[in-house]
Amino acid sequence: MKKVGFFRSIHVKFVIIYVLLILVAMQIIGVYFVRQLEETLRTNFQSSLKERVNLLAYNIVEEMEKERTPEDPTLEEDIKKILRDFDAGDISEVRVIENRSLKILGTSDQNNQGVVGQRTTELRIKQSMVLEEDQSAIKIDPQTRHRIWVLSTPIKSGKKVIGSIDLVAKIENVFEQMKTINGIFATGTGIALSITAVLGILLAQTITRPIADMKKQALAMAKGNFSRKVKVYGHDEIGTLAITFNHLTKKLQEAQAMTEGERRKLSSVLSYMTDGVIATDRKGRVILINEPAAEMLNVSRETVLSQPIVSLLSLEDTNSFEDLLEEKDSLILDYSTKAEHYILRANFSVIQKETGFVNGLICVLHDITEQEKIDAERREFVANVSHELRTPLTTMRSYLEALADGAWQDEEIAPNFLEVTRTETERMIRLVNDLLQLSKMDSTDYKLTIEWVNFVDFYDRIIDRFEMSKEQNVTFKRKLPKQAIFVEIDEDKMTQVLYNIISNALKYSPEGGQVTFSVKENNDQITISVSDQGVGIPKENIGKIFDRFYRVDKARARKLGGTGLGLAIAKEMVNAHGGSIWATSEEGKGTKISFSLPYERSEEDEWS
Ligand code: ADP
Repeated sequence: MKKVGFFRSIHVKFVIIYVLLILVAMQIIGVYFVRQLEETLRTNFQSSLKERVNLLAYNIVEEMEKERTPEDPTLEEDIKKILRDFDAGDISEVRVIENRSLKILGTSDQNNQGVVGQRTTELRIKQSMVLEEDQSAIKIDPQTRHRIWVLSTPIKSGKKVIGSIDLVAKIENVFEQMKTINGIFATGTGIALSITAVLGILLAQTITRPIADMKKQALAMAKGNFSRKVKVYGHDEIGTLAITFNHLTKKLQEAQAMTEGERRKLSSVLSYMTDGVIATDRKGRVILINEPAAEMLNVSRETVLSQPIVSLLSLEDTNSFEDLLEEKDSLILDYSTKAEHYILRANFSVIQKETGFVNGLICVLHDITEQEKIDAERREFVANVSHELRTPLTTMRSYLEALADGAWQDEEIAPNFLEVTRTETERMIRLVNDLLQLSKMDSTDYKLTIEWVNFVDFYDRIIDRFEMSKEQNVTFKRKLPKQAIFVEIDEDKMTQVLYNIISNALKYSPEGGQVTFSVKENNDQITISVSDQGVGIPKENIGKIFDRFYRVDKARARKLGGTGLGLAIAKEMVNAHGGSIWATSEEGKGTKISFSLPYERSEEDEWS
């Protein structure tokens, strides 16, 4: 923020304005007053002297017109007597001049009595007598350098001018007085200005303090601090402004809190939603991208900002930003590689103003890899089921056709053919049963009937059952613990799991082979394994044997009566128990199928 200069601050401006106002006022008053005063003083001075001169003139006329006898004093002596009184005060000299001869009849100056009887040469005196009016002027006395007032006034007797009185007065006093008065005035102005300046400072403070307060608050607000409040000093306009300012602060704080809240809501919605969201400006440059979108596109959020969306989505070759703006349906973005499927679906919506002006674009990304995979699996499943059913059905049809064509009459072939159709029917029943089993487990309300079972006993009984009914020449080896291990299982389902695994082991065991059964106990789980010495499973297929319909050697498995669903069912059931299932195998040497079940040792202690 720019700092306000000293002379620019309102405070100083106020003081300067006050002082200037007072100065101008004083000047105007001063000029008018001084002029008037000077005028009045001078007029008073002049008129008082004039009155005295008039009185003198009256006396002089009397003396001049008096009948004189030789005993009487001469006119000059009488005038001298009269003028003696005038030699004092403001009057420097008064002379009386006769009209006709222009002779000086007398002077009040006692030291200058020599001039009496001489003719005057003063033009002013002659003018006053000729023009019959006063001639006056203010002059500078060449000796004293003081101002003097000279007045020549005609002495009239009736209508006739008989002489003139010439007066020289010291008017300097009047100007001295004026000077003193001016001095007083100047001092007064100075004092008034100082008081005004001080008052101005104080008064300006009452105005500038709230304004400075508001300025401070505005600066604090700009930094995001809304907690301050302007102090309200009064209820004048500035007070009202301060109240409004505080109100504004509150409103602004509320608005900011609301915007902040909305922003937080939006950002948490964006970051917690599983879909990816990308927003662009009107030129198609990314301005916002949420974490899921960055993860989906495997980019870092910071680096893609302001990158064009078409290049971010790798669409440069097929689409322009304008195409995306007009895209009504969703786009499928296939980023699959050989090793991995990865498909995204992108929906676009344009951010538009009411005027139709395009402000930007919002792109929502969904990861549909899983869904696509499920769809593909579903399609594959249907194809597999159809294929699995068609094979026995075609076999049966050809055999039944042969029988219908007359083979039924052949006593040797007919039972053979019927046996084949029976085997195929049984296989189909097995297959359908397995499918039903799977579909039951897929349904959401699938539940296990769980009980506490001593797994060692339970396993032993199942192995017994297989040992008694086995047709192959295979030996059984049991590695079972002596003590009881109690686990929570659904006996029927676990029987099915073990049945599927053990029958596979028997199916794939060679003549004279050995099948080993074991149970191992760990801290929180038990591991059950069935291993055989059969053909084994190639390494690359070992992960897939738990998939539905997967068979390593299709022809052979089918010959052995397998549906390809046994291990898939076992896996579903083990998972439902909270365990996991896996296989280890060495081709040509044998296979070991193992699964784990959750187990708590303390429970077992209680039971033992
Ligand atoms: P099937 O009904 O065909 O046996 P499974 O789901 O039980 O189907 O097994 C899937 C495939 O896994 C079998 O077709 C077979 O190729 C392989 N397999 C399973 N158990 C063994 C084993 N013990 N030895 C060798 N291969 C096995």
